[in-house]
Amino acid sequence: MIYKSVSVSKRFRQAGRQDRGFGLVDRVIFPVKITRVKSLARIFEFMKSPIKPTTRDLRKINRQSLLELVYFNAPLSRLELSQLSGLSPATVGNVIAELLNDGILLEVGSQESQGGRPRTSLSLNPGYGYFIGIEVGETQIQIEIVDLTLQKVSHTRQSLSAGDFLPQQIVEYIVAGVNILLAQSEIAAERVLGIGIGMPGIVDHEMGVSVFAPNWGWQNVPLLELLQARLHIPIYLDNGAHAMALAERWFGAARQAENLMVLLIATGVGSSIIMSGELYRGASNSAGEWGHTCVQPNGALCRCGSHGCLESYIGAPGIIRRYRELAPDSAILMRRTQLEIVAGIREAAEADDVAAVQVLSEAAQYLGIGIANIINLLNPQQIVIGGWSGLLLGSYLLPKTRSTIDAYALKQPARVAQIYVSALGDHAVSIGAASLALERFLRPEGFSIARVS
Ligand SMILES: [Zn+2]
Repeated sequence: MIYKSVSVSKRFRQAGRQDRGFGLVDRVIFPVKITRVKSLARIFEFMKSPIKPTTRDLRKINRQSLLELVYFNAPLSRLELSQLSGLSPATVGNVIAELLNDGILLEVGSQESQGGRPRTSLSLNPGYGYFIGIEVGETQIQIEIVDLTLQKVSHTRQSLSAGDFLPQQIVEYIVAGVNILLAQSEIAAERVLGIGIGMPGIVDHEMGVSVFAPNWGWQNVPLLELLQARLHIPIYLDNGAHAMALAERWFGAARQAENLMVLLIATGVGSSIIMSGELYRGASNSAGEWGHTCVQPNGALCRCGSHGCLESYIGAPGIIRRYRELAPDSAILMRRTQLEIVAGIREAAEADDVAAVQVLSEAAQYLGIGIANIINLLNPQQIVIGGWSGLLLGSYLLPKTRSTIDAYALKQPARVAQIYVSALGDHAVSIGAASLALERFLRPEGFSIARVS
């Protein structure tokens, strides 16, 4: 393995790009570890298999390996690419000429070299194409259009009304949002390389079906088919927590962690489990439904039909319900959206409002119990808290949550688990969703060669 330190500031400084006021550059941290591309090993594997690789296969593998290396580590020279990939300078030269000709890469200045000619650095062409990342939540839909390097170009957010949960309504919101964004940013649909969508509930990511979204009463909704009939751009669906885990792993603080949990706390409560560097989906795609683990036998009714689920205590509706029980006349409850009410409860707690302090103290304790169970079961290195409610309340809840974890988790795994609020903020799911499309762009053949971790 080869390690190379490339900070985000260096990456953008060298590429001549500054934060354009979208606020993403300072938060997105690119992977700093380069794993040697296993092109040759992969080729030998092919040689041993009964199916012989064609010259075309080898060309595709080489192209994919080099593109992935440049994507996560630019700027790089041809010589560095040859050293990192193990490919000959001649092969690197040919593939790079092809990528420059296609307009995917750009030559950006030169590096000094000892005694020889200066080496030309290669970087990505941000304007080569665009991705659209969509977070479908239960109370809002957030849509972002980003360039090839995942820098935000434009975004829109639409609140969903209480009754807006029929598949056709959600499809209309997505189609309208995508069209508004394209018009606003003056980008033709043909220039969009892919749309990624993070959905609530259980998603069959291969078939593009929303298998089970209990809060909307969805069962086996062929969402991909419905959307593909309206938007003629490749679309990739997955669960929102899985999309967020992809963003945390590629661009967030969790990029070095092999074992981590990403917790998505919003109206619903979900999670994504990364074990030994791989997303764990379970036997039928439903792994990570942490919100429906029981923390209170015979407790509050959950929207899944069971009782005492974690979600019914730490999901936004559970927190609001408890506050209503303790302070039924509070003006905070008159606010329009769940987000505004939860924000009001936090402000009230900070001003020592007795009911708000009590509600958040209970929520912190339930969150701690939920995390202690994860720690005992999975022994993760990192636990990242995200989701709009998790982001809003995380820093307030964490001290009490940590003391609950200390009381309930085993000492040894609790010591190694780092728990923090996502630094990617409320972009995490939509950037993760865009990364679903980015993954297909980088690995069109589905080979996983250069594992970036
Ligand atoms: Zn439940």
